[in-house]
Amino acid sequence: MFKACIYCGDTTKPRTAEHVLQQAFGTNLVLKEDVCGDCNTVVFSPLDTHLVDYVRKVSHAGHPDLTVERTLLDGLFVCLDEASGVWQSVRLDQRQSKPIVLSQFVMLDDGMRFVCDKSQGEDSYKTVLAELSAPVELSMKEVLVPGETPPVQPAIAKTGKLKYLLRAADEAGLERLRAALNDGTFSRLSVKSGPTHGSTEAPWLKGEIQFSIGDIERATAKAAVNFVCFALPQLVRLSGMAGIRKFALEPYSEEHTGYVFMDNRLPHLVTAGRHTMVLASISKGEHVVVIALYGEPFAVVKLASDDGQPFGPGAEEFAVCEFDYKSRTHTLLLDTDAVRWMMARTPVAG
Ligand SMILES: [Zn+2]
Repeated sequence: MFKACIYCGDTTKPRTAEHVLQQAFGTNLVLKEDVCGDCNTVVFSPLDTHLVDYVRKVSHAGHPDLTVERTLLDGLFVCLDEASGVWQSVRLDQRQSKPIVLSQFVMLDDGMRFVCDKSQGEDSYKTVLAELSAPVELSMKEVLVPGETPPVQPAIAKTGKLKYLLRAADEAGLERLRAALNDGTFSRLSVKSGPTHGSTEAPWLKGEIQFSIGDIERATAKAAVNFVCFALPQLVRLSGMAGIRKFALEPYSEEHTGYVFMDNRLPHLVTAGRHTMVLASISKGEHVVVIALYGEPFAVVKLASDDGQPFGPGAEEFAVCEFDYKSRTHTLLLDTDAVRWMMARTPVAG
């Protein structure tokens, strides 16, 4: 018999050490008894992989303490998934402060692949394919080819009303895609170009899904909940936080948006060479965890969406944890120490 898992409520499954902030970021701080082994390994481990991959390849790829390189092209972050050989394009939506994975068809030597953000729906290729099957409505708006792009960037064609990309490994491959689009033989070209895979509806389609922004947000939310559990454990089990706990636990859906905001506007809450997690009541009834990774702002996590009040009206809670990712140590500040840390970093108005 264990303390109830803060996510699923289980009291019987063995506990495994759940890292407050993902271990792959160089942290050793763990919850020993609060998260069951199933939530930790079955549910959260794959989410953590998505988040770590995203931070290393996209959001913090240029950071000197990280080694994976990034190519930035026309508002797109472009990164190579080495396992599949498929390039991924991520656009940062300035209005929503959210990253968007552009759906794309990629022609490789062994066939065609479709890459998308899983949270857009696993059937989104059908929408794209429908448009590609009606070439009269297509307009080739943009073609980027080798010579005009960084040398690591394969050819890209952007087309149609929807936001997606067509890609090939070289210019010749791109020309084949364009020709097939213009004469309406896009899917037949794909059949000829490689072995068959997947469903009967699109027998040529490998349907690989490389990236899920929803999973990245869930992993971020989970870290925030873990931090509350570590720093102020009496708070995490309150009913006001039920929504975000559920968000971390369940497959992403539209109704669960509104907890995680990718945000780089809080530079004053950052310490160079550290990850920083700040639990704060920033205004009446609004409770957030600010997460900075590798000394740069990353995300703001609201602990309740909209008008939920996790800690009760008028409550003010502060906690700060700084993680030294090189020595794998951390410093936790509570109460007046945390308030002092906040006050020292709050810009003076005017
Ligand atoms: Zn659990």
